[in-house]
Amino acid sequence: MRWDHLTADDSALFGADAVTTRTFDTPEFRGVTFHEIRARSIVNRVPGASRMPFEWTVNPYRGCTHACVYCFARKTHSYLDLDTGLGFDSQIVVKVNAPELLRRQLASPRWHGEHIAMGTNVDCYQRAEGKYRLMPGIITALRDRANPFSILTKGTLILRDLDLLVQAAEVTEVGLSVSVGFTDRELWRTVEPGTPAPERRLDVVRTLTEHGIGCGVLMAPVIPFLGDSPEQLRATVRAIAASGATSVTPLVLHLRPGAREWFMSWLAEHHPHLVRRYERLYAEGAYAPKWYQRRITRYVHELAQEYGIGPRSSATARRITATRETAHEERPREESSREEATQLTLL
Ligand code: SF4
Repeated sequence: MRWDHLTADDSALFGADAVTTRTFDTPEFRGVTFHEIRARSIVNRVPGASRMPFEWTVNPYRGCTHACVYCFARKTHSYLDLDTGLGFDSQIVVKVNAPELLRRQLASPRWHGEHIAMGTNVDCYQRAEGKYRLMPGIITALRDRANPFSILTKGTLILRDLDLLVQAAEVTEVGLSVSVGFTDRELWRTVEPGTPAPERRLDVVRTLTEHGIGCGVLMAPVIPFLGDSPEQLRATVRAIAASGATSVTPLVLHLRPGAREWFMSWLAEHHPHLVRRYERLYAEGAYAPKWYQRRITRYVHELAQEYGIGPRSSATARRITATRETAHEERPREESSREEATQLTLL
């Protein structure tokens, strides 16, 4: 990893003298390298926030062992001269001082208690969190300041922090969303190989709901030709409804640079007959055509109505849903997004 060519934004986060590299010889972390750093800043302002429904993010990790083939945060690894393919899945940057830094920043007179979004870059409940345990300190800091926040995750590890989340929800607005784009197990095993199974994620939704914290589902990504048949969409929405989710928000796969190359090589290996169809569907760039997106959205909304999902039970849930819709409908702004805050992932 090159630390000597960081941009001004990056160097505000990382001190070149503060990198410790570790590996752990346990089956869970075999082949994974952790780069522990002491960040200089942890609350990131989203550039161009006027076009976003949130302005501030906290991301304690970079890289993600959940290893989703389509993950568009892959591109951010290139800013540290790390590989955006396997390197993104196995070279994890850990901001070990995130909780103390956040507590300090929240106490600053310049901070006015704005909403903080987490899980906007990489998953803050990826496996590394089981070892580094940064989120309890982060949630505690937010709870103690009654600072509103939201989390989007695929990680069942979030339930470890259930008590803290309940405590935080008693004093401030807490918005939780779990990402489940499909329930097809074969597709899950190959395209999201490091994640908990979709049904385990829906168990998270169920448990949160049982504890009085409404949780929405970001149905993302809907993967063209692999996870978008009427039967697949119906099975997924039915399972989401059964979990007690407060909302469901479908989002079609998009393929930005960094993710596109990785996804297409995966497609060529696993589903070579679909390569031409994808090239045609994504001929205009990172997004599937509007007609396709509308068709999926309309059908999922019909199914949601049929299965009785929602109406959303809180302003928070509405806010989170709006966040995801807006973020993923937008064109990427690569030029202004070298810092991770702008990299919103399809978790
Ligand atoms: S999509 Fe989310 S969970 Fe999957 S690898 Fe990217 S950050 Fe991790």
